[in-house]
Amino acid sequence: MVKAAVIGDPIQHSLSPDIFGFLARERPTIELNYEARNISSLDLEKFLQTVLAEKSWIGLNVTIPHKESVLKFAKQISDSVRIIGAANVLQFKEQEIYAYNTDVIGIQESLNRAAVPLAEASVLILGAGGAARAAIYACASMGASEIKILNRTVSRAQSLVQEFKNAFGKIDFSVVSENLNSWQPDLIIQTTSVGMSTGASDLTYENLYKEIFKNAKKKAVAFDLVYRPESTLFLKKASTQGLAVIGGLWMLIEQALATWEIWFGPIPDKSILSEKLQFFLRERLRAHP
Ligand code: NAP
Repeated sequence: MVKAAVIGDPIQHSLSPDIFGFLARERPTIELNYEARNISSLDLEKFLQTVLAEKSWIGLNVTIPHKESVLKFAKQISDSVRIIGAANVLQFKEQEIYAYNTDVIGIQESLNRAAVPLAEASVLILGAGGAARAAIYACASMGASEIKILNRTVSRAQSLVQEFKNAFGKIDFSVVSENLNSWQPDLIIQTTSVGMSTGASDLTYENLYKEIFKNAKKKAVAFDLVYRPESTLFLKKASTQGLAVIGGLWMLIEQALATWEIWFGPIPDKSILSEKLQFFLRERLRAHP
């Protein structure tokens, strides 16, 4: 029996136990005991020492507030983790910690699945938090030539631009305000937690989205990382204005499958498994919105 968990504070709303429970049932040759653990920042170091010493642990999924603080315990971090400054997956090998960011893979796979061409693309990112970092890294490493960031707290967007300019010197990064003038993005990625509220009647966002989509290119794509609800105000407005849309569910699925592959190796029938997981999650979210 191998053990794994998702750690965070709070943790009760995490879907990870459902997802990894499902994957373990689909792959019965791997006996996985997966649970959600509420770990405070004060207890993080002690918890990591305990699970490393137990040896039966394969790794952890990591969520707020530990995505950055786990890095100081890692022996090795992936390139994306180094540039983003945050990990969401840990793997334990020979009592050492290896840190990965599968949110990046989730975003890249969602864009690939929808056949969104990123080469030389102009991208608008809404938000400047952890998910925005993963989105910027994903787009930058897939060949985008221009990335603009729009965030409620402008100073946060400014420091993000500075960090990413250092990592991806050839890309034109900048901060934008709500007035985009005539700039026409190819791809707009919504990474804030705004859509999670029931703000369907929130005029501020309705107007912001209208302003953004009216400028977008004819073949532009709107991608919302929020998956609860599946159809957000952002996606509804984008559809109304004729844009192709991508919801956050595929990112959730692909980042989970990438985590499984880090821990247990390649999944041979990945596309079948991802379809099954999609079906399972839709049912799960319908039952518990
Ligand atoms: P985070 O680090 O806390 O960042 C939150 C972002 O949302 C910041 O840019 C913040 O702006 C902005 N924001 C929050 N409330 C706002 C409001 N009322 N008006 C305008 N902006 C607001 O969170 P995160 O980790 O990036 O996660 C963000 C979202 O991505 C969540 O909804 C999460 O569910 C989703 N996500 C989805 C997946 C997936 O697998 N599909 C994976 C990861 C995350 P300020 O800087 O101004 O505070």
